[in-house]
Amino acid sequence: MAKFLAVGAGFSGAVIARTLAEAGHEVDIVDARSHVAGNCHTERDAETGVMLHKYGPHIFHTDNERVWDYLNQFTEFMPYTNRVKTTSQGKVYSLPINLLTINQFFGTAMSPSEARDFIESQADLSIEDPQTFEEQALRFVGRDLYEAFFKGYTQKQWGCSPTQLPASILKRLPVRFNYNDNYFFHKYQGMPRDGYTAIVEKILDHPDIILSLNTTFRREQASTYEHVFYSGPIDGYFDYELGRLGYRTLDFREIRAQGDYQGCAVMNYGDESVPYTRIAEHKYFSPWEEHEGTVCFAEYSRACEDGDIPYYPIRLTEEQELLRRYVALAKQQESVTFVGRLGTYRYLDMDVTIKEALEAADQFLTLRGPGQKIPAFFVDPI
Ligand code: FAD
Ligand code: UDP
Repeated sequence: MAKFLAVGAGFSGAVIARTLAEAGHEVDIVDARSHVAGNCHTERDAETGVMLHKYGPHIFHTDNERVWDYLNQFTEFMPYTNRVKTTSQGKVYSLPINLLTINQFFGTAMSPSEARDFIESQADLSIEDPQTFEEQALRFVGRDLYEAFFKGYTQKQWGCSPTQLPASILKRLPVRFNYNDNYFFHKYQGMPRDGYTAIVEKILDHPDIILSLNTTFRREQASTYEHVFYSGPIDGYFDYELGRLGYRTLDFREIRAQGDYQGCAVMNYGDESVPYTRIAEHKYFSPWEEHEGTVCFAEYSRACEDGDIPYYPIRLTEEQELLRRYVALAKQQESVTFVGRLGTYRYLDMDVTIKEALEAADQFLTLRGPGQKIPAFFVDPI
């Protein structure tokens, strides 16, 4: 029997398992699903040969040298720049908001400084310290751009008004006063040549790691291990005994065609009257490949119910309160550390997930010893 168990074979569980194995330990890793890589799972479509991002589009981007070097041991990254378009009121615009978007939207030919002054004149400067998504948008882009690109999309994505959501969600997106339409501003960006699942398979390819798929962890199993790293949902660990933390889940409607369906990887839809948030055309995620056929997923967001896959933690006030109570319960557990997007109920990109997993395993190996209490969290989820 191995000493350690990692629950979940997404990036969190896999990176921790590998780090412990490289330190000379035997590690079991289980996942309830039939594949590794969690929500980053990719799979080649049998009919067209297109690499599909089965749980929605994943683009790798980071500023973190350690994470970048770490992943490059397991894959070759191909050059990829995420350039997103959006359709609003029957017209197509460039995202994130940049000088092209501003000039297209307002029918102008402004220079960077003119656009900056113009947007400043549109902004609600009375909002000094934006707290909500809507306040953040009104303060930084003004009402017209907010209503065209963010209000409807966000209402669909999160199932509530942007007045109820934190400003931090919008802070993920830049506003640029030049024609740079790169969706991200990180130093490194790329797409793994053979997809994300191949990376996780390689991370787990170590003689001291035993992987069991189609295997659901139950809390009772924890006591048979010296320590458990749990990357499943924190409320699920406690059989939802205090109630369910709110998540959004996604339904994907598959569209198949020949040739080119929409001419880009991701087309967002800003209007609330369009029921889906975006359409991803997967062959555009592997621009170095050529395929005759094409496969797209239209994404529909809705409240996550029992049996659905949890995608986006909502983290509104009531969830924060419930989260506090689950965190208190978690801290009473012996020998379990909660990690990852679900274990800490946070909106985490892959690079942050990997960074935190590397650091959690490092800290664990340093702390571990007779009489040492290992914390339930290496990163405070609240
Ligand atoms: P997960 O990948 O969710 O893995 C957790 C695993 O635990 C799952 O496989 C699950 O089956 C398993 N599990 C849960 N409970 C149990 C149990 N009781 N027993 C056994 N197994 C269990 N990040 C980016 O950097 N770039 C992007 O472009 C990007 N796009 C995204 C798009 C979407 C639609 C979503 C939802 C996320 C996106 N992300 C993106 C974030 C990325 O998916 C996460 O950062 C990453 O998946 C987190 O990894 P994880 O291992 O913590 O969790
Ligand atoms: N968003 C929006 N319109 C868009 C794109 C994004 O309103 O066209 C909002 C939406 O609330 C989303 C947030 O900005 O949740 C962050 O966007 P991002 O693209 O980072 O979301 P992801 O799908 O990657 O989580």
